[in-house]
Amino acid sequence: MPDLFIGGTWTTPRDERTREIRCPADGSLVAVVDEAGGKDTVEAIAAARHAFDEGPWPHTTGAERGDLLLRVADLLARDRDALARAESLDTGKRLVESGYDIDDVIACFRYYGRLAAVDEGRVVENGVPGSESRVVHEPVGVCALITPWNYPLLQTSWKVAPALAAGNTFVLKPSELTPHTALHLVRLLAEAGVPDGVANLVLGAGPEAGAPLADHPDVDLVSFTGGLVTGRRLMAAAAGTVKKVALELGGKNPNIVFADADFDAAVDMALTAVFVHSGQVCSAGTRLLVEDSLHDRFVDEVVRRAREIRLGGPFDERAQTGPLVSAAHREKVEAYVARGIEEGAVLRCGGARPEGPAYDDGFYYLPTVLDECASRMSVVQDESFGPVLTVERFRDEEQAVRLANDSIYGLAGAVWTSDAAKAERVAAGLRLGTVWINDFHPYVPQAEWGGYKQSGFGRELGPAGLAEYRETKHIWRTAAPTVQGWFA
Ligand code: NAD
Repeated sequence: MPDLFIGGTWTTPRDERTREIRCPADGSLVAVVDEAGGKDTVEAIAAARHAFDEGPWPHTTGAERGDLLLRVADLLARDRDALARAESLDTGKRLVESGYDIDDVIACFRYYGRLAAVDEGRVVENGVPGSESRVVHEPVGVCALITPWNYPLLQTSWKVAPALAAGNTFVLKPSELTPHTALHLVRLLAEAGVPDGVANLVLGAGPEAGAPLADHPDVDLVSFTGGLVTGRRLMAAAAGTVKKVALELGGKNPNIVFADADFDAAVDMALTAVFVHSGQVCSAGTRLLVEDSLHDRFVDEVVRRAREIRLGGPFDERAQTGPLVSAAHREKVEAYVARGIEEGAVLRCGGARPEGPAYDDGFYYLPTVLDECASRMSVVQDESFGPVLTVERFRDEEQAVRLANDSIYGLAGAVWTSDAAKAERVAAGLRLGTVWINDFHPYVPQAEWGGYKQSGFGRELGPAGLAEYRETKHIWRTAAPTVQGWFA
């Protein structure tokens, strides 16, 4: 069956290119999929444009669109296990984690299904007798949705669900490494009754299949989640036609531990913060900042436990985390660690590939701790997107906040202390889109997600996530027009 979905029809690329998808855990062939080129993407944009300009979809009511999203949520729930398996094969992620991700996907569709039905228009008191002012929301138009490989369907659902809730049409381009759950989702959208041309899918590499999405005049909005360098490039390309741009980029997220923190909980979560999904998480707590007096005891314990983390493939029930997504990505992480050591970081554990036949064909890398780091080091400033924790010390509250904010990124981070007032002061001082107090990683679809500084702009999730995909129009109505006589 062909893998591109354009104007309601499954189709093959014009030049019949394909790509092998291999499981990062053992290199086994998952499938061969179609690979779009720029011309296919331009056709998909035309289909989305036509469906927006001529079709019924943008004029449906919020309640109708909400019903459809709730139907999609039911279909996702029906196919949960198949989706989780597909996600694990593409990413190498443990099956149990993929299952959690699919549950979050379903929750996202349900959240926007309910929100779509709520009319957020309002009447404004304009003070002029015989007239009324209304503010209404309308869809933006054709949206380009470009997503990464680390949480493939989750990142996709954070865009697809609000884009549809607002009445847009879209072209989705998932990461070329992890296409299968996006394919499955688009099949479910068709099954749920999304009209032809509303949802279009192109698979393929960024520079070929993705590039037209950023500069084509018929695209109104680009919503991108991925790396900083790609984000900058897309933003520049979108400037030529002044598209609306929403960017969810990287992070270099501080995890601040004060000496008065709950020791066991803070150690436990310091490990989870950075090593879950082998650090391939935009909000991973990769920068551990520890109060001087706690440093030695805390880091010793983190290192002891990091050494015990069991690596394995998606279906290995004893595994605690999995491989990196590709050979190229592992090489990037290796170079990053080597640079850190050159810069003076002290390697406390990891820093190598695991040994043994179980790991030979996968892209595994050991959980790594680099101690005695300083914020000027590139290993502290740059995103590795791997299982690498850097450790810095701080003296006091003021220095902790200053170090944590010493980054071009501002996505997320945490503060650990038993002093509630101190926690609030530190949280207020952090220039981050999400701050956890005595926790790391939890989120809910009702609350916004997004970064400060070069972690991006615009928000996903929550009401502001829907607002990204809406234009806002003011309608002024004068009931009985009169001659006003300015130029009489
Ligand atoms: P990436 O930037 O390499 O690719 C992301 C997507 O952009 C892919 O679909 C890719 O094909 C596409 N792309 C690449 N070049 C393009 C171009 N010229 N035109 C159009 N599309 C193009 O990122 P990645 O390696 O897939 O993902 C990892 C990055 O994503 C990390 O930096 C991570 O921090 C970030 N991320 C951020 C969040 C967040 O919420 N802030 C969430 C997940 C991942």
